[in-house]
Amino acid sequence: MLKVEHVSAGYGAVDVLHDVSFVVPEREIVTILGANGAGKTTLMRALTGLIKTRQGTITLQGQQLESWSPERRVRKGLALVPEGRELFPSLTVYENLLMGAFTRASRQEREETLERVLKYFPRLKERLHAYAASLSGGEGQMVAIGRALMAHPRVLLLDEPSLGLAPVVVDTVFDVIARLNVDEGLTIILVEQNARRALRIARKAYVLRGGTIAMEGTTPELASSAAIQQLYLGG
Ligand code: ATP
Repeated sequence: MLKVEHVSAGYGAVDVLHDVSFVVPEREIVTILGANGAGKTTLMRALTGLIKTRQGTITLQGQQLESWSPERRVRKGLALVPEGRELFPSLTVYENLLMGAFTRASRQEREETLERVLKYFPRLKERLHAYAASLSGGEGQMVAIGRALMAHPRVLLLDEPSLGLAPVVVDTVFDVIARLNVDEGLTIILVEQNARRALRIARKAYVLRGGTIAMEGTTPELASSAAIQQLYLGG
């Protein structure tokens, strides 16, 4: 469904990603692991069009999308849950969620989508008219995921959704990700530093190191690899 081939991208004169290739099959969860600064966020930016790719191709359901604007990519089914959530603090939960529905013209359609999204996040139903600034980290992450879902994506990109959350909240977030995959048939790319959890939920994993894919394999293969154990699973 999503194919990344020989992609290079970066900032200014500097390439951060070098010759990155990977495949995300339809309705699967693929995780991208890597340490701080490995290039995971840069890869998400290249996929969503926030930075331009310098080389290589990105293909979504047979269509090459490197020249598309970020907005067109959203319309075609790619939605990002950014690192750090990036909510609008002075807007309410409801208003933040609607921001994700800019691709939907009719009010009725937006409200129906909202109902569907809120089924996954009962807590947000109670907090709908609270300002985003007043939310806990977990609630904020729910809004960030909900906002991406408002665009009706087929592929959901999640950049470090567990960052800064208490373990019990991380459970809830991963639970929602698994349900979105199964119940909504969403294809998911999960960028994580929490390798243990990511390897449990995904089918296939890629490890980015210094902007290149250093390892890849099924998650059972990688979880049992000595290098992964040492580098990412604490022994
Ligand atoms: P983290 O977990 O810390 O977010 P990451 O794997 O997502 O790490 P990136 O944020 O993609 O890594 O950063 C990869 C490299 O790109 C780093 O060396 C970083 O300094 C550089 N970089 C990131 N953003 C920019 C930017 N806006 N301008 C210039 N260099 C950048």
